[in-house]
Amino acid sequence: MSSQSDLAVQLTAPNGRVYSQPIGLFINNEWVASSKGDKIASINPTDESEIVSVHAAEPEDIDKAVNAARAALKGPWRDISSSERGDLMFKLSQLVEQNKELLATIETWDNGKPYSVAVNEDLAEVTNTLKYYAGWADKIHGQTIETTAAKLAYTIREPIGVCAQIIPWNYPLAMAAWKLGPALATGNTIILKPAEQTPLSILVFANLIKEAGFPPGVVNIVNGHGRVAGAALAQHLGVDKIAFTGSTGTAREIMKMAAVNLKNITLETGGKSPLLVFDDADLEQAVKWSHLGIFSNMGQICTATSRILVQEGIYDKFVEAFKKQTLETSKIGDPFSDETYQGPQVTKAQYERVLSYIETGKSEGATLAMGGEAYKNVGNGRGFFISPTIFTNVKSDMRVFREEVFGPFVVIASFKDEAEAVQKANDTTYGLGSAVFTKDIVKAHRIARNIEAGMVWINSSQDCDYRIPFGGVKQSGIGRELGEAGLDAYSNKKAVHVNLGNWL
Ligand code: NAD
Repeated sequence: MSSQSDLAVQLTAPNGRVYSQPIGLFINNEWVASSKGDKIASINPTDESEIVSVHAAEPEDIDKAVNAARAALKGPWRDISSSERGDLMFKLSQLVEQNKELLATIETWDNGKPYSVAVNEDLAEVTNTLKYYAGWADKIHGQTIETTAAKLAYTIREPIGVCAQIIPWNYPLAMAAWKLGPALATGNTIILKPAEQTPLSILVFANLIKEAGFPPGVVNIVNGHGRVAGAALAQHLGVDKIAFTGSTGTAREIMKMAAVNLKNITLETGGKSPLLVFDDADLEQAVKWSHLGIFSNMGQICTATSRILVQEGIYDKFVEAFKKQTLETSKIGDPFSDETYQGPQVTKAQYERVLSYIETGKSEGATLAMGGEAYKNVGNGRGFFISPTIFTNVKSDMRVFREEVFGPFVVIASFKDEAEAVQKANDTTYGLGSAVFTKDIVKAHRIARNIEAGMVWINSSQDCDYRIPFGGVKQSGIGRELGEAGLDAYSNKKAVHVNLGNWL
């Protein structure tokens, strides 16, 4: 048996913040130990020190979490009115707002993202998303549909049921909010599995779920290894839906496992999103957005515009301006410093992955125009920092043009005309984000139609809003998150046919 002290530890973050860090599994609004005592060590990517170890769920623990979610679905959660559900979600968003400095501190410590970004952007996204979906909770309804004079048909919106949500490490709390918001608004119950690389902030968030007053079992949060806990969820017969964000390879495995009971499924996977710069674009704007589009969040964004395509006549000018912008803006440093634009990559594995792609780019014959090495000038010289890396003269058949790197790593290629720009942009198995820079409004909208992507930014990059659908086409995913579309992913429409006459 574990005592409460085995399930939480007192920690002091690098910015001096002292707090109680839960380390157990959050099942039925209680903290429990994993059945076999398996643990995951969370590493600070800034200096490679171990922060703390948390409990890792085994299949037996997943069973408990699924049973808790099923009991809540049949019991207290079903009986709560939609307005009360909204009230609980609104309360949760307020608690997040009140605790945003603590949550952002943990996010920065565990993930390496700059604190200013974590507190001002990520945490704002969490509160806004929860608040937005709280507002939806009592505005979700079916329809009455006329058929013939003697018959009436109407639809009822029902929750899908017990939902497993498997999330990545690049935006730990924001990804949780994207998934919890629509699932809760539509009356589902949840088992959320965070990424093993960033297990900490979500456990503090779990305490806020309880404090907000959600009944036990409605939200269960279980850290665990993907191949153990994630796989147990994906193949569990008691799980009705699986929602996943992460790599395309893992999504493929999850789809296969989810086939066991034909789970409802939404997937948000990777990308190699193109950004097109035409010779009639506002060059200064194009350069600024291109920089943000690949180098914010250390390049660890599924929609990162990691393939820049520039019209031949302005190619050299663009490359020079882009290098200058990167040199001036991408200040690498301690993520707790206000000056820092770029912190470390999240883990040693990601760091090594980016470094290996740098070697690939060189061996494929692309021109290394900037960076291309580990950066060792922060703190004690440890940590997973990488200089922002730019490859030019990149050809469409190179791996660095085709494969997702997920780091501060960008390739720049050229195109002759609009037809070639669209052809190169679409020459990918992915289809998540895309951006086009031009002052020609007709061309911009024409390209928006012709590009194979879930999202198009005109004279911008990375716009993302809780009110607007987000998701990909091709191998970038299935289904949509956020906005009204996000609700469809978490509710079924039941059709009821009524015979109003006495006819056969
Ligand atoms: P991943 O797909 O392996 O992990 C994402 C989540 O899936 C984690 O919670 C993980 O525990 C879980 N998981 C892993 N294997 C599983 C399995 N067999 N069954 C069920 N769940 C499983 O991603 P990663 O290894 O952390 O990162 C690798 C690459 O994925 C990155 O380099 C990047 O290209 C991509 N990625 C994309 C996103 C995105 O937002 N689309 C986010 C993170 C990573």
